[in-house]
Amino acid sequence: MPSSTFLLIRELAELESAFRAEVASLATEQEIRAAQARYLGKKGRVSELMKQMGRLPAEERPQVGEVANRTKNGIEAETERRLCELRELARKQDLERQVDVTLPGRCEPVGHLHILTKVRREIVAIFAELGFEVAFGPQVETDFHNFEALGIPKDHPARDMQDTFYVADDVVLRTHTSPVQIRTMLSKAPPVKIVAPGAVYRKDDDPTHSPMFQQIEGLLVDEDVRMSDLKGVLLHFVRRFFGRDLGIRFRPSYFPFVEPGAEVDMQCTFCGGRGAGCRVCKGTGFLEIGGAGMVDPVVLKQVNYDAEKFNGFAFGMGIERMAMLRHGINDIKLFYEGNLRFLEQF
Ligand SMILES: [Zn+2]
Repeated sequence: MPSSTFLLIRELAELESAFRAEVASLATEQEIRAAQARYLGKKGRVSELMKQMGRLPAEERPQVGEVANRTKNGIEAETERRLCELRELARKQDLERQVDVTLPGRCEPVGHLHILTKVRREIVAIFAELGFEVAFGPQVETDFHNFEALGIPKDHPARDMQDTFYVADDVVLRTHTSPVQIRTMLSKAPPVKIVAPGAVYRKDDDPTHSPMFQQIEGLLVDEDVRMSDLKGVLLHFVRRFFGRDLGIRFRPSYFPFVEPGAEVDMQCTFCGGRGAGCRVCKGTGFLEIGGAGMVDPVVLKQVNYDAEKFNGFAFGMGIERMAMLRHGINDIKLFYEGNLRFLEQF
């Protein structure tokens, strides 16, 4: 036998023991399979040696081929044996592991309503106790419903008070929930007694203003409605919502669709109305909660109500502001950031 054949046979035979030594220290199936590929793969060590067979005399090739097959089979058998060993070891560790069946189970996290949804529903419920129905309207509004019918014609200076998002020339993202008043009155005869909650949009963006926020609007139209009725309704609301005997006051103000109009303040929830040294109400003892007033006859005429026979009041307030005042939250953005550490507190 020429020495090259002899050498090739010896090298092939040695590969099997080299493989055994290598996989003995490997501890995962992935590593063992990779080692197998390094020996038996297309460019593996066995294949590399087989390429040299072409240089041998033809009569000696069968003998080399036989050795090569034995080596391949040996490597495959060793692979299976090591994998089997690993599986057996894993099974044994599994059985030995201690399980404490008395431990409590892991609970799935349970969600809850967003703080603003809860506050909105609570506010609506308080007015519902007083007999107000809930009304809704579209968030994309016509200029007519959002401005014109509320006594705010195109050249009216009050339009400067509202930084409006225009969708088209005569279509806007509603800047307040007041257009729901118009839609309701156009669709039914008096008396009307509604609250209208919903999202509104203005080009405002700072810690206490957001380009999108939620308002709730109230409207009552009937015969012989007085401003004291308005004050009584709002006082009842403040006391029910904050659960405390807080007072309210009206400060004369201007809104185009009410006459007379007022800003509504309530006694500060943080200092109880004392004022002195309170940072929340800046020492005044009062916090602004919204606007209100008696419905301007101009508005009643726009919806073809008899302004001689009927009158009414309207009010509006921010739902975020109510939640901020009750829970001492100082940044409106916290409501919209989806931070669970904030939201889970409520
Ligand atoms: Zn205060």
